[in-house]
Order: sequence, then C-alpha cells, then structure tokens
Amino acid sequence: MNTTTRQNALVIGCGIGGPVAAMALQRAGIDAAIYEAYDRPADVTGSFLNVASNGLDALRTLDAHRQVLADGFPTPRMVMWSGSGKRLGEVANGLTLPDGTTSITITRGLLHRALRDEAVRRGIRIEAGKRLVGVDGQAGGVFARFADGTRAQGDFLIGVDGLHSRARQIIDPASPAPRYTGLLSLGGIARHAQVAPTPNAYHMIFGTRAFFGYSARPSGEIYWFANVARRDEPTRQELSTITPRAWKRQLLDLFAGDAGPAPMIIERAGDELGAYPIHDMPTVPRWHNGLIALAGDAAHATSPSSGQGASMAIEDAIVLAKCLRDVPERATAFATYAQLRRRRVEQIVKYSARIGRAKTAGPVGRRLRDMLMPLALKFFANSRAHAWMYTYHIDWTEKIDAPQKAA
Ligand SMILES: Cc1cc2nc3c(=O)[nH]c(=O)nc-3n(C[C@H](O)[C@H](O)[C@H](O)COP(=O)(O)OP(=O)(O)OC[C@H]3O[C@@H](n4cnc5c(N)ncnc54)[C@H](O)[C@@H]3O)c2cc1C
Repeated sequence: MNTTTRQNALVIGCGIGGPVAAMALQRAGIDAAIYEAYDRPADVTGSFLNVASNGLDALRTLDAHRQVLADGFPTPRMVMWSGSGKRLGEVANGLTLPDGTTSITITRGLLHRALRDEAVRRGIRIEAGKRLVGVDGQAGGVFARFADGTRAQGDFLIGVDGLHSRARQIIDPASPAPRYTGLLSLGGIARHAQVAPTPNAYHMIFGTRAFFGYSARPSGEIYWFANVARRDEPTRQELSTITPRAWKRQLLDLFAGDAGPAPMIIERAGDELGAYPIHDMPTVPRWHNGLIALAGDAAHATSPSSGQGASMAIEDAIVLAKCLRDVPERATAFATYAQLRRRRVEQIVKYSARIGRAKTAGPVGRRLRDMLMPLALKFFANSRAHAWMYTYHIDWTEKIDAPQKAA
C-alpha cells in the first residue's frame, strides 16, 4: 500500500459484509464509502439468522460486536430429533468465547441495522439507490457505474454484493451461476403459548417429508424455519403466485403425522411467509483482478445449513483489509487474501451441502440416518470435529508476512 496518499475504496453492497469491509478498511487506513442498490434497507420482516461464535469473534476485532450481541439471543446448542420423535442427539452450535459469548440468533433487520449504524457512527458514507452496473478501469483506479446514471471514483472496488453479484460478473463474465441445492426455505417468527421455551437451543426435526427447525424464547416468540425438497428450481414468478395460505397448507400436509410442535407453529405463521430457493456457490474461480476483489456471498455462497454465511462474509472482509494493510502491491494483496480464505470457505460450502442432503433423505436413507445419526453426532459432530470451523481467529495486530504472487 502506498503510505503517502490515503487510498479510497468503493464498497459495493450494504448487507452484512459491506459495512464490515468498510469499517475494516478504515481501520487499515483506507477510506471507504458504501454503495447499496436499494433505496431503503431491504430488511425482510420475519427473516432471521444464526451468527456463529467465530463470526462474532471476528466482529470483535473491529469492536463492532456490541449492538449485534445486544439485539440477538444466545443459541449455542442444537438438539436433533427424528420425525418419529426419537431424540437423535445434540451438537454444539459454535464455541463459548472467553467472555462467555456464544453463537446468537438475530433478525436480519436488526443485524443489518446494527452494522450499518456502526459504520455511519464511524464516519463512513453510505449511498443508497446505487445499483452497480459496470466498472471502468482508469490509470491506477476505477469508475463504478450505477443504474441511476451516476458514477463514483475510487482506487479500487470491493464487491460485497451478494449471491447474484454484479461485481463477480464484471471480473469474470464466465463465472459459474449460483447452484440450486434442491431445497426451498420458509420460515418466520410466530407466537404460540403452548410451545415450551427452548433456552439456548435450536431443536431440529428431520421430519418424514421435510425438515423443521425452531427456537422458542421465554417471551413466546418462536423463530422457525422449514426446508422442503423440490427437485427443479421454481422461478420467482411461480413463487410469487403462491399465497402464504397455500404455503401454510402445504407445510401442514408435509409435517402431518410427525412428532413435535411443527404443525402448531406453522398454524400461527404470519402473512410474511414466503419461500426462497436455496443456492450455494462451491467454487468461484476468480475472486479478484487488479482493481476489484469479491467478499462474502459474491465469492462463495454457502447454503444456510452450516449457519456460517454471515460469519464468512465478516471474516473475509477483515482478512481482506489486513492484506491491503500489510501487502505492498494491491494485486498481490488481493491474491494473498484469496489464498488465505479460499480453502476455509470452500470447506464450509461443502460441509453445509452435506447437511442439506441429510435433510432430504428418501425412506431408506431416512431409516439409516435415524439409526446412525446418534453415533455420528457423538463421534463425528462433537466440538473437536468442528474445531476447524469455530476456532478460527483473526489477530488484527499480527502482520501478514507471506504475500502470494498476484494471479
Ligand atoms: C434463507 C436463508 C437463511 C440463511 N441463514 C443463515 C444463517 O442462519 N446464518 C448465516 O450465517 N447465514 C445465513 N444465510 C446466508 C447469509 O444470509 C449470507 O451468507 C450473508 O447475507 C452474506 O453476506 P453478504 O454481505 O456477502 O451478502 P448480502 O447480505 O446478501 O448483502 C449483499 C448486499 O448487496 C446489495 N447489492 C446486490 N447487488 C448490488 C449491486 N449491483 N449494486 C449495489 N448493491 C448491490 C444487496 O442489496 C445487499 O444489501 C442464510 C441465507 C438464506 C437465503
């Protein structure tokens, strides 16, 4: 990095990784502004997610974790059940950090707001209604072109623009498209007085025909989701014609006869109920060129089963900023970042896909799964087996001293 003039980065996307990238770049001595496609926050009602302990640990590197922790609630355990009501076992959802922090569940709206507000508090500019459509290179820098006809100039651009990233297509028009996993996801936040609270835990039910997960808070709020197998990917148009009532009926049919509270909870589902096809991106060959680098889902989306997508976006953003701080040439810094991150994130995408497949087993697979899962959970899904995922720690003060060759 040239230390005589301050560099200026364009960060595309103000979801999860975008504000974290801007804050991390600022800490690395690089000015950053964020450009978000939507005019106002697209914080979907009822949508929530797990932020794993490793993601919270990474956020703490920037001292940006406090509001996120305050707005979430701890969910450090997962208890697995079969559709017949057999308890299959329990698995830790992350680690307990030295100060007692564990993985949390938080609504997407509150997570976005906490990160956005923290970035603004640190003086980072966020421009809304700026949908990236193109990038023009210029001597030593970039011009980002937006759909509203405006442009922004920077020394380089970080594409944190999600699963359907425009930045990814700009770097490599031949980049693979997101892969449909054969699962739809539905869910929301319901209330039901008769569902017993599940303190600190998610309960996951491998149902006969579909998968159901929930965590019931003492306040009566139940955070729930269902994964439904569907071989061919439905179009957006098709999904938009299915009403919440129709989904409710379909879910009630799918969970009829299974043990557990799924039908009771689904009965109370609100009108926000909609289905999303689940995608992932196992390998994106090019994460960067001389002017643009990708982070988060833009570079490597994982399906939700691992509960790691948000945490991966946070980790990426901070490692990328560290590389830009420590590695003299920008192209080499980008290459070093990709080298440091690729193996880990691709391993998580694979791990998540494996869990997804267990959710859609046929009758024979189901019987085997219900028989073998208690052993598998005991011997292969314990904290030691998952240490590679959760013990990842970014030391901001440690210098990156093994730069990779630019691609
Ligand atoms: C149903 C579901 C459940 C999930 N559950 C979990 C979970 O429990 N735990 C977990 O860790 N992860 C979960 N994930 C994954 C997680 O949401 C993503 O991994 C995470 O949001 C990635 O962050 P990101 O910043 O890379 O992308 P995003 O959060 O998607 O943000 C991208 C941003 O870029 C903006 N943008 C897009 N295109 C442009 C453009 N051309 N110009 C400007 N801005 C643009 C978007 O509007 C958005 O604000 C889930 C995903 C789904 C679909």
